Amino acid sequence: MQATLKSSVRFTGTGLHSGAAVHLVIHPASADYGIWFKRTDILLGDTMIPARWDVVEQTPLCTRIVNSAGVSVATIEHLMAALAGCGIHNALIEIDGPEVPILDGSAAEFVRAILKAGVVAQDTPVRAIEILKPISVERGDARAELVPADELRIDFHIDFVDAAIGQQTKGLNMANGSFVRELCDSRTFCRQADVETMQANGLALGGDPAENAVVFDGDKVLSPGGLRYADEPVRHKMLDALGDLALAGAPILGRYLGTRAGHALTNELLRVLFADPSAWRYVECDHQMAARLPGAGVHMAEFPAVA
Ligand SMILES: [Zn+2]
Repeated sequence: MQATLKSSVRFTGTGLHSGAAVHLVIHPASADYGIWFKRTDILLGDTMIPARWDVVEQTPLCTRIVNSAGVSVATIEHLMAALAGCGIHNALIEIDGPEVPILDGSAAEFVRAILKAGVVAQDTPVRAIEILKPISVERGDARAELVPADELRIDFHIDFVDAAIGQQTKGLNMANGSFVRELCDSRTFCRQADVETMQANGLALGGDPAENAVVFDGDKVLSPGGLRYADEPVRHKMLDALGDLALAGAPILGRYLGTRAGHALTNELLRVLFADPSAWRYVECDHQMAARLPGAGVHMAEFPAVA
């Protein structure tokens, strides 16, 4: 069955790139509503933005969605991962600024609040997207792929010259609460050299290595307190992939393989998938299939102690 939250949950924080303070409220929504954002700071015109792959504007550093009136919300990926990982299919997200708050740089605070509010089953079955044949996209040495599988599995490989990151590979089946247990508290990361470039370009203005991002410089971790996991960067890339795949508009039954992939490439993968009607189909989930979806049976006891 589809699910929503039992009650609304509220967040206050700062946008990673804009540095602006923002308030965000996730409200329950009826079955088949999907996930929508509403900009409450804009009073005229269409302020509703669907959390969907076809309204994503290509941006290298975050996932930004824009409606036909030009109204946008940026950095939605960690919130989308939290909703998908907790098995929330329907929600209305009100936000009074252009960027979702970065909080601690992970999805942990969203997950904690959603699980605390509670997840409620609705009376309509989940419609999932079954991958029927392999689909892939490549850009330089980056690659993203979807192949048929009975459940959503995410495999990721990263390869950085910085010795403190290096090569990292991890794969997880997203069923059985593994997102909450193993991925939700892994924080966004970047390299010191990139921070300087981003800030010179007016980005990452809300970035703070002590608060919301892991900053690497060669063989050093600059953030106080160090890493939450030795392979925290690849875990975060998997978190991002789950959030970006959630923009398919329904849970995916298939295996995602990412190599040095990012937000833009995962979105391109969805565009290639939906352009090919022979590559996918909708399936109504029976009880057994629903039990294999991300978030099925997730509970607070699985929340990592570190976050
Ligand atoms: Zn991220």
